[in-house]
Parts: sequence; structure tokens; C-alpha cells
Amino acid sequence: MDYQKLADLLFPDVPTREEIEARYPKRCLKEGAMVTRFAPSPTGFVHMGSLLTAYINSLMSSQSGGIFLLRIEDTDQKREVENGTEGIIRDLENYEITIDEGAMVGGNYGPYIQSMRKEIYLAFVKDLVAKGLAYPCFCTPQELEELRQIQEINKERIGYFGSYSKCKKLSLSEIEEKLKSGLSFVIRLNSQGDFSKQHTYYDLVKGEVHYFENDMDIVLLKSDNGLPTYHFAHAVDDYLMGTTHVIRGDEWLSSLPVHLQLFETLGVEPPKYAHISPVMKNDQGTIRKLSKRKDPEASVNYYQELGIPVEVVKLYLKTLINTNFEEWYLSDSSEEFLFSFDKMPTSGSLFDVEKLKSISREYFSRLSKEEVYQGLVEYTKKYDPEFFEIITEQKDYTLAVLNIEREIEKPRKDISSYSDIKQLFYYMYDCFFFSDHTYEEVAKDYDPAGLREYFQTTYTTEDSEEEWFGKLKEFASNYGYTPNRKEYKANPENFKGTTAKFCEMIRLMLTKSNQSPNLYDILKLLGPERIEKRLNLFIEYLQTK
Ligand code: GLU
Repeated sequence: MDYQKLADLLFPDVPTREEIEARYPKRCLKEGAMVTRFAPSPTGFVHMGSLLTAYINSLMSSQSGGIFLLRIEDTDQKREVENGTEGIIRDLENYEITIDEGAMVGGNYGPYIQSMRKEIYLAFVKDLVAKGLAYPCFCTPQELEELRQIQEINKERIGYFGSYSKCKKLSLSEIEEKLKSGLSFVIRLNSQGDFSKQHTYYDLVKGEVHYFENDMDIVLLKSDNGLPTYHFAHAVDDYLMGTTHVIRGDEWLSSLPVHLQLFETLGVEPPKYAHISPVMKNDQGTIRKLSKRKDPEASVNYYQELGIPVEVVKLYLKTLINTNFEEWYLSDSSEEFLFSFDKMPTSGSLFDVEKLKSISREYFSRLSKEEVYQGLVEYTKKYDPEFFEIITEQKDYTLAVLNIEREIEKPRKDISSYSDIKQLFYYMYDCFFFSDHTYEEVAKDYDPAGLREYFQTTYTTEDSEEEWFGKLKEFASNYGYTPNRKEYKANPENFKGTTAKFCEMIRLMLTKSNQSPNLYDILKLLGPERIEKRLNLFIEYLQTK
């Protein structure tokens, strides 16, 4: 068969492969620089699983001084949604994942949207046809269905291969005739693979994987719109774009034999592959894949609404990417952390929102009061306008509130999100404090008179923490609250309680809760006027008990 003639017949007006290749010169990057890519279909928003994939790709390229590119794989136009690409870019931007080259960003290796690269794929397909490595197939869906049924009956593998590859046997004149009568066709790979031959591939994450050669004449170019299949397009693109590492979900591992074969058929070096494990969820004891339909935490918006900073989600993702990252982060080391493929989990890692929140608490505890304030302003502006007004009107006071047990050696770790802050500190704001009148667990024997006298005679804002506590102990002791717990335990009837109980009363009076940060700080911040109002309300409340 004259393959060149066949190629010209099928694709008369197509540039040559060499012409295309001349547009994509080899990249000049330093040794070891990785060119990675995130290659989603334009299905709109990015969910946690794909965010993780994108993030790994971007981290690995940036830490090696390479390039991270975004390629939109829209050859399956059924999966497309309107403005899908914009949605992806927006999510990546929100997560501060920098795209060096790509759709809507530009670069020298574009276009980065596959549907705009038709001519390129045609040039490569034509080249393969001219070499006898691909051929047209005119089988109708009906014929393919019949083939499938025969293979099922014969208990054979299902597919277009070996003696079943009917169209591979067509002569040039038969093809010409079919073309003349306007029959539509696909282009199939003329597979040179032998299914009885096994090979071993070293995947950068999974390690050794064993596979059999592919002998299926898979479709390279579809009939409907002249677009390539995903398999073929990715091989051509990764070759021309100079991708060095394909880092993608392990659902693609089973396609690896075909992909390696495609690079071989094209006569080019394949990139290195790293197949990463999916993100899993423990759903009441059942471990399953995190689902973008079922699980709200799979959506990136979930964290925005909750007020969990992007940096925290990224930190958490880093703990999923490399098993040794968390230890490094908690050690507060000043050395740079380098991500590596061999520390990526080989099987699915659990996505645990509680764990993410604990990382968030650690993260918040390391922020300065100004940083927390700034983040809170941005968050409340969008999600809690009432609180936004309060904190912007009382900026200095809020900064001081946020600084309670912060910017010290062992800071408090109770904030896990911006939405926590109002719940944690609502009592510091009169408008919230006086809007409801319930106190947590008030003991029957609380003594309002003692409290009043303490604030009238002893408490002053001038005292240092030590002086304050010394005086408080002394006052309480004179009033029947012993600082000595043992003494109290031995003869409880002799006392009103311990110093701790006296403090508990003050805490409840000021915060309505039995738990709060440092009482001294709270007293100081609230100041005499607010204290007085709270004292009156508390005494009134105790009298109704
Ligand atoms: N377009 C494929 C997807 O939708 C990308 C697979 C790959 O990264 O090679 O996931």
C-alpha cells in the first residue's frame, strides 16, 4: 500500500509534522527543571481532588525552577460547561496557584486549548498514516456493536484489534471508494503491540508497575468533529509543549500502556509519569473517594465561606502531598521544605476536615494581630456585614481583642477560621453581650455582694498581672475563698470556696462562659465602664435565680 498516497488522500491540506515541530522549539531550561501541566476538561469549578493535582504540579515545577502550564482538554465537547475554563482559572487564582503558561495566560507553546489545535493533531495523524502506523476505519456504531457481541460470545477481549481490525485490511482503492461515497471515518492506531508481552514501568509515585503491551487499534481521531481523542491529543501536546513530568490522578494508570505506546509510535521520548492517589473520605466507617457531588468539603467554596484561609487549605494539601510535611511544619523549621515524589502516598489519603482545622489553629496562632484583623475585615465584609461594621468602627479595640494571648511564646490556639472569631470573642462587644441574657452554668451559691465589693475596693486597671492576682487572692481569702485547695477539701464547710471559684464568678460575669482566655487581659481590655455594666447585669441576674 502506498501510505503517503493514502495520507494525501485523507488529509490534502494539512501542514507537515516538520512544519509544526518548527513552531515548538526545545525549551532552554536549567538541568532538572520540571515542565508540568494541569490538564482539566473545561467542566467549571475545581474540586479538592483536582486542586490537589494542580497544586502538586505547580509545586514540583516551581521548586525546580521549571514551568507549570494549564492546558484545557476540551476534545470531549459533551463534558464542557459554559465558562468552564474561566471557573478553573478563577479557582486556581483564588488558591494562588500561579500558571506560568496556558489558556488565557498565553505562552510560546500554545494554543493551550485543545480544540484550537486541530491542525496540529491532523499534521501528526497524517504523518502516522503516511508511515503506515495509522489507518482510516469506516465501521459504523452498529458494526462495532456486532463485533462486541461476537467477542462476548467468544469470551474474547472487547475491542478493535488483531483479526477483528476489519478496516486495517482495506486496500487503497476500497478506501477511495468509501471516501467518494461520503462515508465518515475515524483514524485508528495501527497497533504494533503484542498483548502477551509484559513490561515493567517505574512510576515516580507508585514505583514498579507491570503492564502488557497494548494491541488495540485505538481511535486517534474522531469522526464527528475531526478532533483527536484525549489519548492522542495528550501525547502530541506533551511532546510539543516539552512536558517533562505528567503528574495526574491514578485513574489514568490503566491508560499508561497506551500512552507509552503512543510516544513510541510518534518516535519521541515520553515524559516521566507520576500517578497520584485519590483523596478519600471516611464516611461513617466506610472509606470512599471524596465526591464532588456528595461532600460539601470537596468544594473549594466551602473553605471560603467558613473563613478558612487559602494558605491553610494549601498547608493541609501539602500534608497530603508529602507524608513528612506536617512534622516539618510543626517543627517551625527555617529550612526550606522540598517536596519529593517518593514521599507521596501510594494509596489514597484521607481528607479530614478536623485535621485541616487543627492545622488552621496552628496557623492562626502564628499570625500577628494585624494579620488576623486584616483577614477578618476581608471575610466579614463578604460574609458578615454586621460584624464588619463593628470591627471597623472599633478597630483599635478589636486589634487588642485579637491580641489576647497572641504574639507571645505560647500563643492560644483556638481560632480555626474567621467565622470562629465572633463566636469566640462575642462577649467583648457590648452589642452582642447585652443582646442575650443567658449565662453558662451559674452555681446557686454565687455571692454578688463579694463581687461588688471586690470591684469597688480592690480592682484597679493600673495593676500588673502579678499585683492584680495577689490582691484578688487576698481579697477573696478575706471574703471566705481560700487559696489553699487542700484546706478547702478537708473542710469545705468552713469556706465559700477557693480562689478559683471567685475567679469563675468574675469570668462568668464578664464573658457568660466558664472558659475564656486570660482574665486579667479581658478585665483590662473591657475597662471600668463595661465592667460596671456587666457587674450590674450579673447581680440582677443572680437575684432572679
Ligand atoms: N484531561 C484529563 C482529565 O480530565 C487529564 C488527564 C491527564 O492529566 O493526562 O483529567
